[in-house]
Amino acid sequence: MAKVPKPNELLIDHAFPGTGWMDTPAVFRPGNFSYPGKAKNLLAVDLPNPREWSPLDADWKLPSNWQQIILEGLRERLHKFRSLKLFMDICVRCGACADKCHFYIGSGDPKNMPVLRAELLRSVYRKDFSLAGKLMGRMVGARELTEDVLKEWFMYFFQCTECRRCSLFCPYGIDTAEVTMAARELMNLVGLNIDWVVGPVANCYNNGNHLGIQPHAFKDMIEFFVDEIEAVNGIRIEPTFNRKGAEILFVTPSGDVFADPGTYTLMGYLMLFHEIGLDYTWSTYASEGGNFGMFTSHEMMKRLNAKMYAEAKRLGVKYIIGGECGHMWRVINQYMDTMNGPADFLEVPVSPFTGTRFDNAASTKMIHIVEFTADLIKNGKLKLDPSRNDNLVMTFHDSCNTARGMGFFEEPRYVINNVCNNFHEMPLETIREQTFCCGSGSGLNNDEFMEMRMRGGLPRANAVRYVNEKFGVNALSCICAIDRAVLTTLMNYWVPDVTVYGIHELVGNALVMEGETERTTDLRGEPLPGMEDSENEDI
Ligand code: SF4
Ligand code: SF4
Repeated sequence: MAKVPKPNELLIDHAFPGTGWMDTPAVFRPGNFSYPGKAKNLLAVDLPNPREWSPLDADWKLPSNWQQIILEGLRERLHKFRSLKLFMDICVRCGACADKCHFYIGSGDPKNMPVLRAELLRSVYRKDFSLAGKLMGRMVGARELTEDVLKEWFMYFFQCTECRRCSLFCPYGIDTAEVTMAARELMNLVGLNIDWVVGPVANCYNNGNHLGIQPHAFKDMIEFFVDEIEAVNGIRIEPTFNRKGAEILFVTPSGDVFADPGTYTLMGYLMLFHEIGLDYTWSTYASEGGNFGMFTSHEMMKRLNAKMYAEAKRLGVKYIIGGECGHMWRVINQYMDTMNGPADFLEVPVSPFTGTRFDNAASTKMIHIVEFTADLIKNGKLKLDPSRNDNLVMTFHDSCNTARGMGFFEEPRYVINNVCNNFHEMPLETIREQTFCCGSGSGLNNDEFMEMRMRGGLPRANAVRYVNEKFGVNALSCICAIDRAVLTTLMNYWVPDVTVYGIHELVGNALVMEGETERTTDLRGEPLPGMEDSENEDI
């Protein structure tokens, strides 16, 4: 892993470079790119051109006809996705999106301006697919697809988290995230991808989840958390696995099972489901909610999404509840129906406790756990003691995928305000639709890319620092597994006295369960507010 400069050493230069953008080559250096996909992972999912290579090498070992493959691929996609054709044609280069990207703000590199990022592909489109470009070339911003251009694509389309913030400010609604998705798909045709995307995809395909956890280990981990909960409040929970005939299939990102602080969120799910007596099952086959296929190609996204629904069918459940995840929900909300849906073999979700019918999921048959919990609270079905979270002065990060990908704003805030007494919003232009990305989404949450992650996360961290200094905020909550992991790293770097929480960890803390023993600690084993002395007595 490349050495990451300390926060006060991180130089951000927004000065314009001395050369025009077409004459400024991409320069790869440790810290600004992600490692390429390993051959074994490409082979596992039949991706083209498996080989070992490095962006630092002069020779990227491309197929001899790589230009033809990509241009044919572009032709096919322009025909298939009318939105892509539109995005290639209608940009007027007004610049409204230019300063809206967190990577541009944090790096100062003009090619991280959304308008210029898209131009990297658009310039090739012009040359081969527009009359003006064919006739006038560079005069109208058209250029040949050369190896240098391809290297530039690899650099900058893997410096975009597909967060869609830029699209919010574009008067024409151009979605640069979709341009990035198309460019990544084209690069995949010749074997250009990153291992932090292809590795999880291969693991998911082979073992059911991104982390490659074997079924018995997945089950063991959840049973470990059962023990942990019993140690906190004396309640023994008995989850079931792969149980046919359960009413509901619960699917969450594997990060919740294996990576702190997501594991505490998972404990919250277990406690909630036990307390309300939900008839649900875990699956060791569909043991992943996240979908790194989305960062590879539409086809791969479809393949991975299908697993969850195949498992729901096999187990004979009525519907699916999904855990706190980001891109799982963007895939469900934006793409599932046209890829694998509608899921007519399942039922429209109806809460067995409140009778609420979730018509928003009439087609996908899958609801977000936060909307399920918000509905329980609204109908008075949970006994909650928010004072157990009184040591926390909370703010909330809207994850790009749940915010801009599904408009999910009120439910998380409703739940937080019922389980925490101290809550402060970050500045308006940094939350809800306008939320700033964590800087590590879309498969960029790898160690070797750390410097760019800290740069890209700067606007988010800045807003957290603002409420930290103004209101004493010491806790940042979110509803995405990647965010839980990467915001922890980001906070350690930029705002070290802020800790990251999933919402259902806060629910688990506040939930008063029937028959529980007196709690002295929260789910992390830290003393509850007012219980600090009893902890000392134990010692
Ligand atoms: S989608 Fe997000 S990361 Fe990509 S260019 Fe737009 S603002 Fe930047
Ligand atoms: S805001 Fe839209 S039209 Fe304006 S430069 Fe950006 S992508 Fe082009």
